[in-house]
Amino acid sequence: MINIALLFLAYFFMEFVAWSNHKYVMHGFLWRWHKDHHVNDQKKVALEDMQFSGFEKNDYFFLVYAIPAILLMIIGFYFGYFSLVFIAIGITLYGFTYFLVHDIIIHQRIRIPFLRKNHNLYTKAIINAHFAHHRPKSADDFKNFGLLIFPLRFFKK
Ligand SMILES: [Zn+2]
Ligand SMILES: [Zn+2]
Repeated sequence: MINIALLFLAYFFMEFVAWSNHKYVMHGFLWRWHKDHHVNDQKKVALEDMQFSGFEKNDYFFLVYAIPAILLMIIGFYFGYFSLVFIAIGITLYGFTYFLVHDIIIHQRIRIPFLRKNHNLYTKAIINAHFAHHRPKSADDFKNFGLLIFPLRFFKK
């Protein structure tokens, strides 16, 4: 039971990690990795027509995030600390969610028609909030560094 709680905790903690990393690292000292993810923003192409050329340098971050999860799994299994394995599963599930939501649903780097059309209130708001970061109309818009958690105002647009 505690392990399931740890899994969820790790999952939501990762949203915080993703937010702070995006804000302080990606738009900070590792901007050179994140830059190509924003390359379309200046070109004024419609968001639906954004072109991504295969891999971005930005994808390095997925590899970086995989390392702690892998280490936790190895240590957890090796020493029998299964709580660590559950934490690792939480981190990994967040990684999958991030890829699904950010790279497939929002940016459509892989085009899955079903995921293009079927949006509920929450996924619509996620898209609004993330596009606000890419095409900010105000300084506040740009500050949307999170993915799953964002100001409620994005539900309205
Ligand atoms: Zn960014
Ligand atoms: Zn993006």
